[in-house]
Parts: sequence; C-alpha cells; structure tokens
Amino acid sequence: MSEASAPSTETMEFKSELRQILHLITHSLYSHKEIFLRELISNASDAINKIRFNSINNSDLLDGDTEWKIRLIVDKDKKTLTVSDNGAGMSRDTIIDQLGTIAKSGTKAFIETLQQADEASRPELIGQFGVGFYSAFMVADRVTVVSRLAGDPVDQGVRWVSAGEGDFTVKIVDKESHGTDVTLHLKEDEQEFLEEWRLRQVVKEFSDFIEYPVVMDVERNEPVEGEDEKTEAVIREETLNSMKALWLRSKDEIEADEYNAFYRQISHDYGDPAKVIHYAAEGLTEFKVLLFIPAKRPFDMMFGDPKVGPRLYVQRVQIMENCEEMLPPYLRFIKGVVDCADLPLNVSREILQQNPILDRIRKNIVKRIFTTLEEMKKDEFDKYVDFFKELGLILKEGMAQDFENRDTLTSLAVYESMNTEAGKYISMDEYVDQMPPDQEEIYYLIGEHRGMLERTPYLEVFRDRGWNVLFMTDPIDEFVMSSVTEYRDKKYKAANKGDIAADESAKARAEDDEKTFKALIETLKGKISDVQDIRLSTRLKDSASCLVADEGAMSAHMERLMQRMGEGEGQDSKRILELNAGHPVVQGLQKLHDSDSSDVRVESIGRLLYEQAVVAEGSKLDDPVGFAGRINELLVKELIRV
Ligand code: ADP
Repeated sequence: MSEASAPSTETMEFKSELRQILHLITHSLYSHKEIFLRELISNASDAINKIRFNSINNSDLLDGDTEWKIRLIVDKDKKTLTVSDNGAGMSRDTIIDQLGTIAKSGTKAFIETLQQADEASRPELIGQFGVGFYSAFMVADRVTVVSRLAGDPVDQGVRWVSAGEGDFTVKIVDKESHGTDVTLHLKEDEQEFLEEWRLRQVVKEFSDFIEYPVVMDVERNEPVEGEDEKTEAVIREETLNSMKALWLRSKDEIEADEYNAFYRQISHDYGDPAKVIHYAAEGLTEFKVLLFIPAKRPFDMMFGDPKVGPRLYVQRVQIMENCEEMLPPYLRFIKGVVDCADLPLNVSREILQQNPILDRIRKNIVKRIFTTLEEMKKDEFDKYVDFFKELGLILKEGMAQDFENRDTLTSLAVYESMNTEAGKYISMDEYVDQMPPDQEEIYYLIGEHRGMLERTPYLEVFRDRGWNVLFMTDPIDEFVMSSVTEYRDKKYKAANKGDIAADESAKARAEDDEKTFKALIETLKGKISDVQDIRLSTRLKDSASCLVADEGAMSAHMERLMQRMGEGEGQDSKRILELNAGHPVVQGLQKLHDSDSSDVRVESIGRLLYEQAVVAEGSKLDDPVGFAGRINELLVKELIRV
C-alpha cells in the first residue's frame, strides 16, 4: 500500500464503564497477575474454535492454514511477549466494538462487586465477566493487537494500540496470515514473563487442557552430529501444554487434581467443584459427558448475561461454547463438556432444538445430575447443604418449571425449620419421617429471614402441638410453592393461610367460644373494613390477634415481593383477622361489648388488635398516626392511674 493512500491512525475513547474497569484492573489487582496469560490463550483458543466451526460450511476461510496453534513469542530486547493465533481474527469494526466501545450488560453491578471482592477472587471475576482481555494491562503498559478476519484481504488487517488508560488507536495495516497477535509491552517489574520457565509454569498451571498446542521457540544445546562432545545452540518449537481432552479418557486414569484444574479452566471458579460427573453413555446414542456441579454460585449468575450450558463437541470440534439447549434453565449452574459423535457437524441451534438425539442426551444427563445430587444429599449432607445454600435458589426454580421431574426436585430441596437451630437444614424426607401421627400436612412459612419467621404468631399452635414448620426465605419460594402441592402424599400447607384443624378438645371449646364472641365479632366486622372477615383463631396461643390469607390467596410476603418489583402496586388483597378467644384483651373486649356495644372503645381497641396483627406479619400500617394516637390514649389512662 502506498504512503499516500495509507489510512491514518484514528484515536478513540474507551467507553466510560470500561475505563473504570481498566482502572480497577491496573490499580487493584496484585495477586495472580499471571492469569492474564490464561485469558489471552483462552481467547486465542476460542478464535480457533470459531474458524474451525465457520469453515465447516465455508472452506475458503482457511487460506490453507490449518495447523492450529497458539504461539508465545518472546522478544527480550523489546521486552515484549506476543500471543499469536491463526484463529478467526477480527475486522476493524469488531475490534473497535469488542476491545473498547461495547459495554456489556451488568457492567455497573460487576464494578461494584469487583470493588467489594477480596483480592484473591478479583482475577476470577474478570474472567467470568468476559473482560479477560483487559487483564493484559496488569503486566503491560502498552498492548498492541494486530488482527485480520479470516476471509478478508491481506491489506485489511487492523492494528489496535492502547496504554489501557482513556483511549486507544486503530489503523488499517497489512497482515499476511489471518488470526490475531496480541503483543504486551511488559512493565519494568513484570519481565519474568519473558522467561521460558515462567511461561511454561503458567501454561501448565492454567492452560494445560487447552486443546490446541500452545507452542514456544526454545533454545537448547544439542550435540553436533558426528562430533563427539561438541554441542550447539538449536532453536526448537516446543509444545507447553498437554492438550488432554479429559472427557475422552477413562475415569480410572484421572486424578482428582486433574478434574479440579480442568474445572477451574472452564469455569473461572477459583475453588474446586462440589461434584464431578464423568461417564460415557452407550446405546442408541453414544456420547461422553464431563460435568461439574459447582460448590459456589458462579459470579456471572449475578450479572446480566451468564454463559449457560456445557460445551458441545461433535467429532472433536467445539460446536458451541455454551449449549443452553442441553440443560433445563434451573440447571444453568452446571459446567462441563458433552461430546457426541452422532450429531451432524454443521448443527445449528435451530436444528439442534428439534433434534431427537439432543433430547435423549438431555434426558440422560439431567437424570445423572439428579442421581449425583441425591447421593450427595444422602451421603454428604453437610456438603450438600453448603451447595444448596449457594445454588438451591436456582435449582428450586425447577419445582415450578419441570412438571415431569417435580417430585425429584421437591425431594432435593432442604430447608431451615422451626425445630432446627438457626443455620441447620432439614431434608424433606426427614421432615415427613418426623411428622407425629396426628399431623397430616407439611407446614411451611415463607418470609424474608428466619429471625422474622421465628417471632410470628403463626407458629404458636405448632409449638404447642410439637409439629415442625419449614422456613422458606428465598425470594423464589413464593413462586415455587404456588405450584408445588404435595410430597410423599402429604399436602403442603402455608402456616399463615386458611384454617388449622383444631384438635378434639379445642373443638368443644370452640363451639362455646363461637357463641360468646358472636356479637362482638359482628360489631367489629361493621367497623373494621380493612379485612374481609373476622373469626376466632385455632392457631394462636400467646398473641391476641393475627392476620391470615385465604387458602389460595397471595400472602403478605408475596405482596411485598411484587411491590418491590414494581408490580401489583395498591393490589393489597384483604386478609382475615383472627382473634384469640383465650387472650385477656380479647376477653376484656368481649365483656366491654357485652355491657355496652356502642362504647367507642370497642372500635378503637378492635382496631388496635388489627393493627398489631399488621405489624406482626411484617407489613406497613395504612394509618400509623392513628395507631400512635390510639396507643397514646391508652398510655395516658395508664399513667393517670400512677
Ligand atoms: P471474552 O473473551 O470473555 O468475551 P475478552 O475481554 O477476553 O472477553 O474478549 C473480548 C472479545 O474480543 C472476545 O469476545 C472476542 O470477540 C474478541 N477477541 C479477544 N481476543 C481475540 C482473539 N485472539 N481472536 C479473535 N477475537 C478475539
């Protein structure tokens, strides 16, 4: 290209959120700086996967270059390290978008999490959020990327340069081969990344399972042929990684460490997985599966755009990095690889969705995941509970979504309960096995947190009868429990909804009470229009009153959830006010009403009984000033007596 027509260098600004991320990366990450190499190698490997996949239907992309490899090139004089690939490459527009101007969804939340995260977990967060490229700036004060999109002409390469501060430049340049070279101009105190031993070590530790050779020229002294005892320096290209496709190997040959290292590589988790599932399915469809159940909720689950589903390989070619069709949404935390030679190589998402093979694989691996979870719950309960605390809220979605597997999913849920100490969980089987003979239903209570649930009046009757109540404190529980009806032939019942069946002695008492309190209740119904009904309670022992929802109605907790999400504003459904016939206040009120049903105190005390029930269920009072007035009136009387 002649000088005159050479396109000029353009300077562009990084998107502001990216500037913040860059600043954080370069100024706050001190430990594990070496992971920058893993990120660049993993991008290079993705780019090779991409060209292999794209070239299935378009072999012109290949330019004859199909010896897939990732090269590390060291220049000690210039103090540069280059990671070079012959993958799909990037066009000018892609490079501008991908390395500078496109903000991913959830960036704000990511920045906040990064700022709060402890230092050890920060580098992993960067990889998980998909800004791994920028980790190059932890060790480089300038990064140059030269790339050409496979299929573009040689003079349509692009050079991108940045010091990782406010801006970057791009320029159209010639590039002979397609693919990408990322060159790091290493900082003065990061020169160790020019050393062979250090690069070897980092590749071994973080990129050993990358399936393309990561190669480097190394200098060795080798004997000169024919001349004894004489050696000469020879440069040879060596492969630094073992490229082991773990899922293709037999289970007995694989050490736990190898599984863990592979898991860390594909998941960006810094800990070990809770469980490994590795098997080869034989029969109608043959496929190999290596899946991991994480022990911790992956950070990307908390941001806008999590990568969901295992990698899908067909005949050793990675067809999809994340095959979400492979698993139901409630198993989206599962990481790993599925390798099936029976699927067509050019399978697209559309074809895949209707493919009966996929359906078979999916059913098979879902079943395996369930059995693994069931075994873990049975044999390693504490570990299972730890897993469930992290990921149970996602797994539980399945109870509402997957009708076919509802029973299994219901049995996989574990909960805190009234009779277990705080932080301890109980399984559904334990709950049912411990039910006394006179208890027919599975009782649960949903709310924000245990502390609040423990103090509600709804538990009084259960304490009295020795029946346990499950505590459900995940926001998802309300939605889930509206579709789950029973477990082991026992019906679920919310402790704060509907009637609680009275026992025999209580029944006899209740009949008398009905008569005694009838007139009072009729009067109160006429005065307190905030509730749909007023009745005597079978669930209260110590408290004077409480509010309950109708059997099928929305609970107060659900209404609060909906309101927080901006839905159902002002949609308060009216509840039922229950009064405790054994409580002195309710008894006193009945006597007051009996002697003079028009006494104004009947209404104000009745209203106070309603208002204390509103507060007890954790809701807000409609008229807090009126409430304070009523309380003060009573206090004044009390004080006058003093
Ligand atoms: P992630 O790889 O998780 O998307 P990165 O910040 O590491 O996040 O990379 C951003 C994007 O830049 C990649 O998604 C890819 O489109 C592009 N990219 C990075 N490195 C390469 C490469 N070696 N070859 C082709 N594209 C690349």
